[in-house]
Amino acid sequence: MDRETGKKIRLVALDMDGTITQHRTPLEPRNRAVLDALAARYRLVIVGAGACRRIHGQLGGYPLDVIGNYGMETGEYDREKGELTIVESHTAAVEPKEEVRERVTRLRRLFGMERFAGDTVEFHPSGMITFPLLGTKADIADKLAFDPDRSRRRPLYPVVREAFSQYTVFIGGSSSFDIVPRPYNKLYALERYCARRGFAHDEVVFFGDDYLEGGNDRQVYESDFPFVTVDDYRDFPERAQAVL
Ligand SMILES: [Mg+2]
Repeated sequence: MDRETGKKIRLVALDMDGTITQHRTPLEPRNRAVLDALAARYRLVIVGAGACRRIHGQLGGYPLDVIGNYGMETGEYDREKGELTIVESHTAAVEPKEEVRERVTRLRRLFGMERFAGDTVEFHPSGMITFPLLGTKADIADKLAFDPDRSRRRPLYPVVREAFSQYTVFIGGSSSFDIVPRPYNKLYALERYCARRGFAHDEVVFFGDDYLEGGNDRQVYESDFPFVTVDDYRDFPERAQAVL
């Protein structure tokens, strides 16, 4: 990000998992202090893949707005009440669950991933679908160890995308694919958030870790929003210096 752009920033938008926290792990004090420093100068919003309340909880109730489920849900932090209020929530029509299950079963056979803990696929109330390669009840440690550099999911990605071509598919979380009804994605979500609140794109900077092909920050990375890459959440304090 160049110096001229940096001067105009009013809104800092952040991915959560992998950018400011370890996946599915509470916010650590060091990165919380960086959020404090950013919040003293800018409005902050999380643009996440998970539900708003899960994100809010993982951040220990940190006072900021949250866009969840790739824009299907928006939460605003109410400073008087000290809580997150869900102000917008969309659902999308989904196909019959049995059809989705059959497709996932076919993919598991193809990938040699027929053993899993819990359920084979997770259906969210919003219409989002998660295909967890290790199953819905897999141990967090196993999930984190499964594919930290995404090298195992990257070759499978085009196959999953093809099988779910009416959705947008992401290499999500630590060991899963997120299957999201169109038109939702983080770019669509951030554009709408900015349009409603009067932020121009060059007044925003986005921090994200998943900016490669198939990553859930990819659409924002390829857009006109200024983007700061974070390859490890432990580097966030240093990467945030771009705007501090
Ligand atoms: Mg991430």
